[in-house]
Amino acid sequence: MDGLMMDFPLTLPTLLRRVETYFGEKEVVTRLPDRSFHRYTYSEMARRAKQLALALRELGLERGDRVATLCWNHYQHLEAYFGIPCGGFVLHTLNLRLHPNDIGYIAAHAGDRALIVDASLAPLVQQFLDQTEIEHVFVVEDSYEELLASADPAGWIAPDLEENEAAAMCYTSGTTGMPKGVVYSHRSTILHTLGVAAATPMGVGVSEQDTILPVVPMFHANAWGYPYVAAMLGANQVFPGPHLDPESLLEDFVQQGVTWTAGVPTIWLGILQLLDAQPGRWDLSRMKGMLVGGSAAPRAMIAGFKERHNLVVCHGWGMTETSPVASFPALPGELSNADDETKFDYMAMQGLPLALVELRARDDSGNEIPRDGETMGELEVRGPWVASAYYETPDSSDRWTDDGWFKTGDIVSFDPKGHIQIKDRSKDVIKSGGEWISSVELENALMAHPAVAEAAVIAIPDDKWQERPLAAVLLKDGASASAEELRDFLAPQFAKWWLPDRIEFVTEIPKTAVGKFRKTALREQFAPRPAVPTP
Ligand code: ADP
Repeated sequence: MDGLMMDFPLTLPTLLRRVETYFGEKEVVTRLPDRSFHRYTYSEMARRAKQLALALRELGLERGDRVATLCWNHYQHLEAYFGIPCGGFVLHTLNLRLHPNDIGYIAAHAGDRALIVDASLAPLVQQFLDQTEIEHVFVVEDSYEELLASADPAGWIAPDLEENEAAAMCYTSGTTGMPKGVVYSHRSTILHTLGVAAATPMGVGVSEQDTILPVVPMFHANAWGYPYVAAMLGANQVFPGPHLDPESLLEDFVQQGVTWTAGVPTIWLGILQLLDAQPGRWDLSRMKGMLVGGSAAPRAMIAGFKERHNLVVCHGWGMTETSPVASFPALPGELSNADDETKFDYMAMQGLPLALVELRARDDSGNEIPRDGETMGELEVRGPWVASAYYETPDSSDRWTDDGWFKTGDIVSFDPKGHIQIKDRSKDVIKSGGEWISSVELENALMAHPAVAEAAVIAIPDDKWQERPLAAVLLKDGASASAEELRDFLAPQFAKWWLPDRIEFVTEIPKTAVGKFRKTALREQFAPRPAVPTP
């Protein structure tokens, strides 16, 4: 017997109708390139999104055509987030921090036909445009405005979209191999939005009363879904534009009354240093939660925010392939009165899967790992917002198991209640004498040392042990510490064979386009030399 419920497609025009019908007066605030603030309402956003959809149709673009953006986080990008998919086209967010050749490769591979670009990034486009099939380029605050003005929103009728049609595309940033295209459907996007909105990391969630500022770029993994989550809930949203330095962000938080924000660890490390240097300068009492993800955040940083500034920072885990949010940290109810140290342990974990997402992990022999908090295995994930294939990449089926789970390449342990802790990426974990050493745990421990600003640990080849850890350390301005001192600091926390053989002091840790440690560059820099113990 079948259920007798409506076959109602899960598509983005429903979300657009909702935000303009119920939250039309709520605000979208953007920090413009000249540092002033632009403000308008969701009503205006919806009107302009429809104009964009109509204008693209009038250009001759067809259902399913890809329309790319090369933009910072701002209100026009939000219009693209709605207007492109609601018009039946596919929003393709291009990562502006990539090399122009890589952007060209990605835009060509995706078959992009049109592009919306920030004025400041227009020169970049000239470096890759001829590699692509892009026919139309619209510059924000310039020809983009003419495009919108060409369409009358009164003529808007939402197209009849199927929920499994593509809504958006994003390429993995290529930390591992060539960038690969992930294609989100309307259905997966709506379910991900609901999943993130319903989640309460560490017991705290978002609602219409919040003001959300996604620091995480809209060109990278949908800004963790927050532009859609905020619109669905009717929360105000604030976009930082290109101003991502700690000082500007703190100013945005205070001046715009931000209550919820999300970004990669390097952003929060910079903010913590500034807050520590000038305590009391910013009143952040309205901030309920600051999410950190994209790579593992040091526990010491999480504790530092809470102890010194009474701010809750906690993890979210996910990947481009998982829309991206798949898990959030959770504090079991019976521990709600636990001491801070216990809470920090949970905040530093990646926690439990969002509803509808399932996780498991298996060791090298394919056996599921026990929930003992120690044994490590590769994490596998499945759910309605997890990719089932890459766009036109036939030889990538080895990323999925025979029974349809996605192999994340992340190494995790499960605690007895099933909370995950990311220990490493499979290509970064250090395999020493047949045992695994977690580079993330060593990094986090090093970054708890008062003199250390950043630390990245890599494997270097070793004749006897196969691989041994090397730590690249960036000291804080004006601080000093010797390799010996750092090893002594680590010694009580780890088995002796975990301790890095070499500690190298560097002036910079190379980062990827989205601010993660670029360990391939460090391996090239340090691996050719034989591993010799630090004197
Ligand atoms: P790329 O694969 O190019 O780095 P993604 O942004 O999709 O691009 O990165 C996903 C990866 O980021 C995950 O596989 C994981 O290794 C890492 N990651 C994401 N969130 C977290 C987190 N909270 N803690 C630790 N690692 C994380």
